[in-house]
Amino acid sequence: MPDVFADLVGQDEAVVELRRAAAAAAAVLRAGAAALVPAGPASGNGSAADDAATGGLDPAAGMTHAWIFTGPPGSGRSVAARAFAAALQCVHGTGCGECPGCHTTMGGSHADVRMVVPEGLSIGVGEMRALVLRAASTPSGGRWQVVVIEDADRLTEAAGNALLKAIEEPPPRTVFLLCAPSTHPDDISVTIRSRCRVVPLRQPPAAAVAEVLVRRDGIAPDVAQWAAAAAQGHVGRARRLARDPEARKRREAVLGVPRRLTGVGAAFDAASALIEAAEAEADASVTEADTTERAALETALGAGGTGRGAAGAMRGAAGQLKELEKRQKSRATRAQRDALDRALVDLAGFYRDALTMALRAPVAPVHTDTAALAGAGAQKWDAEGALRRLEAVLACRAAIEANVKPRIAVEAMMLALWKG
Ligand SMILES: [Zn+2]
Repeated sequence: MPDVFADLVGQDEAVVELRRAAAAAAAVLRAGAAALVPAGPASGNGSAADDAATGGLDPAAGMTHAWIFTGPPGSGRSVAARAFAAALQCVHGTGCGECPGCHTTMGGSHADVRMVVPEGLSIGVGEMRALVLRAASTPSGGRWQVVVIEDADRLTEAAGNALLKAIEEPPPRTVFLLCAPSTHPDDISVTIRSRCRVVPLRQPPAAAVAEVLVRRDGIAPDVAQWAAAAAQGHVGRARRLARDPEARKRREAVLGVPRRLTGVGAAFDAASALIEAAEAEADASVTEADTTERAALETALGAGGTGRGAAGAMRGAAGQLKELEKRQKSRATRAQRDALDRALVDLAGFYRDALTMALRAPVAPVHTDTAALAGAGAQKWDAEGALRRLEAVLACRAAIEANVKPRIAVEAMMLALWKG
């Protein structure tokens, strides 16, 4: 297994900082220091400020209890958090990739590393309280208790408050790693942010994404280059496009939309097609998990049992099943939104190509395979028309993010794309 940071594509500065922090954390353990220096509200601007505050002499200076990884989707926020967790658990250095600490963390089985991956639209207070409680226990491996919260922007307000309490008075050996799109107050509360050190990740350049697809996934260089460009810096999306013919087909259908917008009726048809495709994609991704979970819960609750206890247990279990159904519904909604958002990002890429061509900007197109079509659009619409259409797609994303019903937002977008 290579170094734990090997999969973090195009984020050299962040890796340097995280390695330095892991080394500092190891020094804290060696020195037997009781506690880290928490990042206070006054020193939230990064490691330089933190070092200055402590004179750089404290072995804990490079390390702190709470971190936020920010960056656009696909930039590797959770990859960075997991790699850093491994580096903290590494018994040889700062993420060698070979020791048991690195290995079990990367494989998801380290006893002192918990990954919280919200499946629904939000992380509730119950889940967060249980997590905080467990995070306070002494690390069984003698190093750190690490809690990784993916999509920390999905914390409910109550859950955020429960987390804030833990971050404000952190147990001595507990480290919280949060992932969020940005440090905007919409994503993460100002008070949580003020207690965390921020590690900003950038959208990785296409060349770096292509390189990792070739090296790690064994994808042919020409396919890797195409997929990296088409995925617009989203590493996971690039890998799916390179490997999964279904994903490529869905993308082609989305990029066929501009050509099909020939009238009002066609615009509504295109909206329906886009929504239904997102639903179908989401269904395919969650159905199997739903069935497995339900079967597991029913077994645990004694369904299919014939003893006298079984019927009573089933009555008490109705509430648990209902709870599971609620969770699954929330997960399905999120999967649909994610699928729709991917489609909108592809579509935005098309109009962005038309815009850059209309402006004769010396940049490579996002979608090389529809470049000719985007070129025709550029001639017909001019830069202004291309920009208005690009803005219509971005406005649709923003509307859905703000809880406008997806069908309504997509219909409005399609009409705007048709009318220009
Ligand atoms: Zn290691």
